[in-house]
Order: sequence, then structure tokens, then C-alpha cells
Amino acid sequence: MTPALSILREVFGYEQFRGPQAAIIEHVVQGGDALVLMPTGGGKSLCYQIPAIARQQAGQGVTIVVSPLIALMHDQVGALREAGVAAAYLNSTLDWQQALQVERQLAQGEITLLYAAPERVVSERFLGLLDELKVRGQLALFAIDEAHCVSQWGHDFRPEYQQLSLLAARYAEVPRIALTATADELTRADIVQGLRLQGARLFISSFDRPNIRYTIEEKKEPLAQLQRFITQEHAGEAGIVYCQSRRRVEEMAQALADAGLAALPYHAGLPAAMRQAHQDRFLREDGIVMVATIAFGMGIDKPDVRFVAHVDMPKNIEGYYQETGRAGRDGLPADAWMIYGLQDVVNQRRMIDEGDAAEEFKTVLRGKLDALLALAEATGCRRQRLLAYFGEASEPCGNCDNCLHPPAVWDGSDAARKLLSTIYRVHEASGMAFGLGHLMDIVRGQATDKVRQFGHERLSTFNLGAGYTERQLRAVLRQLLARGAVGVRRVLLDGGRAVDTLTLAPGARAVLRGEEAILLREASGARATSRRRRGAPPAAAAHLGPDAQVRFINLKAWRAQVAREHNLPAYVVFLDATLAAIAERNPTTLADLDGIAGMGAKRCQAYGEQVLQVCRQPVT
Ligand code: ADP
Ligand code: ZN
Repeated sequence: MTPALSILREVFGYEQFRGPQAAIIEHVVQGGDALVLMPTGGGKSLCYQIPAIARQQAGQGVTIVVSPLIALMHDQVGALREAGVAAAYLNSTLDWQQALQVERQLAQGEITLLYAAPERVVSERFLGLLDELKVRGQLALFAIDEAHCVSQWGHDFRPEYQQLSLLAARYAEVPRIALTATADELTRADIVQGLRLQGARLFISSFDRPNIRYTIEEKKEPLAQLQRFITQEHAGEAGIVYCQSRRRVEEMAQALADAGLAALPYHAGLPAAMRQAHQDRFLREDGIVMVATIAFGMGIDKPDVRFVAHVDMPKNIEGYYQETGRAGRDGLPADAWMIYGLQDVVNQRRMIDEGDAAEEFKTVLRGKLDALLALAEATGCRRQRLLAYFGEASEPCGNCDNCLHPPAVWDGSDAARKLLSTIYRVHEASGMAFGLGHLMDIVRGQATDKVRQFGHERLSTFNLGAGYTERQLRAVLRQLLARGAVGVRRVLLDGGRAVDTLTLAPGARAVLRGEEAILLREASGARATSRRRRGAPPAAAAHLGPDAQVRFINLKAWRAQVAREHNLPAYVVFLDATLAAIAERNPTTLADLDGIAGMGAKRCQAYGEQVLQVCRQPVT
């Protein structure tokens, strides 16, 4: 057995390495530099934690972990200590005496992993400490987590990360490992450049997250749909609901709370103390639903988030994938659920069209939006498309809405031509701006007051689309927007009201000439049979028999108490999956706990007896 494997088993209680972990760890233990691209939940932490322990055991000293968020450091250090590893952090939550104490331990070689924020690491005082360690050969490794923060094009840019380039020169002989879940070429190039990792070995994992089920539905009544989704499939479970605006976050959170769900709002406009309090509750309590803008998420490595819901469409696939990736890091079944509608497409399109970015940049943004729309409108496997977007070939997955319930397809080319002609004629006839509803009325032959007022019932396209439902026409319009056959312009009317008016765009020509078919998914009916009944057991315990279920619930109650005493999130004490495995085995002796994943030697020593006692509670 290699030292790395025995650390994995003894300290962390896991049997086998996952994917490329073994190769990465081997490389870093040997002193190599590495850049690790692995999806969220892939198991990045062990890639530097195990080398840190191995190198410390070999007398090579301490590993410095650069981490951007205090909450993250706190939880990671808590989890390591639970596993019996000498870990500590230096950050602004410590008073000067505590900080001094950590520095003293550092100098005396008592720390295996030290977590610190980038600005702390590059401070003169800290560099002084590192210099001393270096002279004594006691600087084992630098691990740079969330390495994409160095990229100024990314959404998490942290200028302090760029200063980390000095580590390469100043500690040239100390190996460095940088890790991120952001996959695209541009970010990768920025990391290599910004952190001086030109000589590092690159490890790229598959970005597939097989336990996440992707579902994308048409938006009808967002709140009712969301509420149904949560109560039917994820009652009592933790999840994140992403919205595009702050106002929407507040409305949704309020509405869910009114419906009796444990929902909390989070966006950048809320007072810092409230944001912190809500985040803490999300991390520490069971079953909180966080309703948030994209301001929420980075560094939230809560493993048991059971669903990520998008009630508004994000801007691109990168964002969508990063956000949905926060579900199911523990490898248990999780849902990525999105609803989107014509208005989403119109809004996103208009924001691009009317933004003041350079035209070339707008073209890139439109391309990215179109790729996401194509995913949403796809009739084939969602995962295959997602992975293809990241350059990975795959087979249909069997675990997305389209694989599970293949949608029927209809030819919307005729409806598309009718809509395009109407858009053209309305504009030609009046030169004025009209909203979507008005356009629909004309095509569907509804002679409303407004239609009469402008004489639009006399247009040659009036009533041409009477054979289609409004829903079908909206689906066709989404496609036309996605293909660049229709553009959006916001026009201010007298009195300050604004309408989003549709215009013909260059892509219209091919559709009008019948050169391109418009194939659409049949408007789906109610959601086909849901996976789980109301009140069904949580994902981790779904396979357990009735007695084991009771033990699982008792173990969770006991864990909640331990977590409170240690001021740590419950999952840091034990993962759900570990509790479920214990409940299933029904141990009566300490030896029975051997080989349960997540039950390392230290945890067994610390909690084994208590676990046995909980399992002995009568099952009534
Ligand atoms: P990432 O940082 O890549 O999002 P983490 O390091 O937080 O992922 O790991 C995700 C989850 O997978 C954690 O709960 C971790 O304990 C677990 N894990 C990591 N490696 C293994 C392994 N080899 N066997 C079993 N579980 C693992
Ligand atoms: Zn699929």
C-alpha cells in the first residue's frame, strides 16, 4: 500500500481514490507542480490534503493553503481536525493573541496545513515567516484553491490572487498545486500565466456529474411550479433557487416562506450581517432553501445540497453549469431544475443588444446565450449537449428529462413564417412599437380594442396563426430568438412606459425562404411521474429498510447535537452517506464500524462508542 492510500483509508476513511486523484497526489507528493481542473464535488481537497500529510510525515514541513473565503477555511479546518489532522487558519476572525499562537505553532512545526487568504499570504509579516520555514526546509507545499480567482475575465476575480505569482520566484523549490472547477481555455491560460505554472503538469477530469439529473421546463407559473417541485421532490431538503434580480429573490423567498418552507433570501443588496446569518443557517441547519442571485455560491461546499433550481435563465452555459454543480457534491442523487420562458429570452437578448459593449463582444455574448437556449430547447440528451459544450464527447445519459421522457417533436416552420411576416407587416404598417401580446393577438386573430385602434385586423397576416395555441407560438418565437431570426428593441412610449418590441434580424431570411426547418419540442404536459413520493426518505437513506431508517434519523439527531457543540456544520461531523451506511450495518461493536466510508480511525476513536449507543436505542 502506498503512503497516500493508507492516509486515504486511515485518516479519511475512504477505500479508493476517485478518478485522477491517485495520479495527482503521487505527482505532488514527489514534489511536482500541478494544475487541477475538476468539477465541483470531484474531490479536489484531498488532492492537496493527502500530499500535505504525506510530506509532513516525511519531515518536509507545512503546507500553506491559499483560500479566498473565511467560511471555507473555517469548515475545511474543522473537518480536518475532526479527522485528527493538525490544521489551522490565520484570518481576521482571530484576535492578535490567537494569531500569535498559530504563528508560534507554525514556527515549531506543529501544523500540517495552514489556511490563509491571499492578501495575508503576500503580506510582509507572513512572507517573513515563510522565509524562515524555507531556510529550515520546512515549507512542504503551496496549494492554491479556487485558482480561477486570478483571472480578470472570470466572475470571481480577486486582484490579490495575481500577487501570488511571487511565490514562484521566492520559493522556487517548493511545489505548488492550483485547483479550480472552471474549465474553459481562457481561464486556464490565465491561471498558468498569473500563477507562473508554465511547468506544472495539467490534470483535467471529466466534467460529468452523473448523479445530477438535468430538467428544463417551460415557464408557466414560476412560483407554483417551483413550489410543486420542492414539495413533491425535495421536501425538507437543502437547495438553492437562483433568480436574476434582487427583487425577484425577495418575492420568491417571501412566497416560499409564506407557503411554509424554510426559505431565506440572499443577494448583494442585503446588509452584510444578514447575508452572513443566512449563509450560516444554510450551512449549519438541515433543509434550508436559499433563494439567491449569483452573488451566492462561490466556496459553498455544502455536500448535501439536493437541488439547484433556476427560475430565471442564466446568461450562458458556463454560469448554468457552475451553479448547478453546487448540487449533490456528496455523489448522491440531486436535481438541476430550470424553468424558462419567452420573456427570459427577450430580457437576456435585450440586455446584450442594448448594452454598451463593443460589437465583437456582443457577438460573443449572443453566441453564448444561443448555446444555452439551444440546450433549453433541445430534444435530445441534455448532458450530452452540456459536455459537448465543454469539448467532451459522451453517450445519452439516461438521467435527464429528455432521456427519461423523450419529448415529441413538431415542425414549427409554417408558424415561424407567419410570425415573421406579421412582425414585418406590423412594423411596415405603422412604424410603431408593439409588445409581444399585441403581436400574438394579431397572429391568432383576436380583434381586441387595441388591434382595431390601429387597424391591424386588416393586415394580411391577421388570424393566419389561428390554428396554433399561444403556447406553441411562444415556443416558436423562442426558437426564432435563439437563432437570431428575431431581435429585441426596447422602445420608450409617451408617458415613460417601455415595450420590448420584436424586429426582424438577419437570420429571418433563411427561415422565410424555407431553407431552415424549425423543429420544436411538443409543449410538455404536466411533469411525468415524479421520482419520489411526498415524505419519501432523503436520498442518502432511500435504500434503507424501516428499522435502519429509524436508526438513520436517530443518528442525524445525535449528529446535530455534536455539530452544535463543536460549532460546525453537521456534514463536517459525518456525511449523510456515512450515517446511512452505519444505520444499514447496525453495528454492535467497534469492529463492526470498520470499512464504513467516511469513518476514519480518528473519527472511530472519537465517536465510535456514541454511535454504537445511538444504534442501540430501541427501534419502536
Ligand atoms: P470539490 O472541492 O472538488 O468540490 P470536495 O473535495 O469537497 O470536492 O469533495 C467532494 C466530496 O467527495 C466530499 O464529501 C469528499 O469527502 C468526497 N470524496 C472525495 N474524495 C473521495 C474518495 N476518494 N472517496 C470517497 N469520497 C470522496
Ligand atoms: Zn440524458
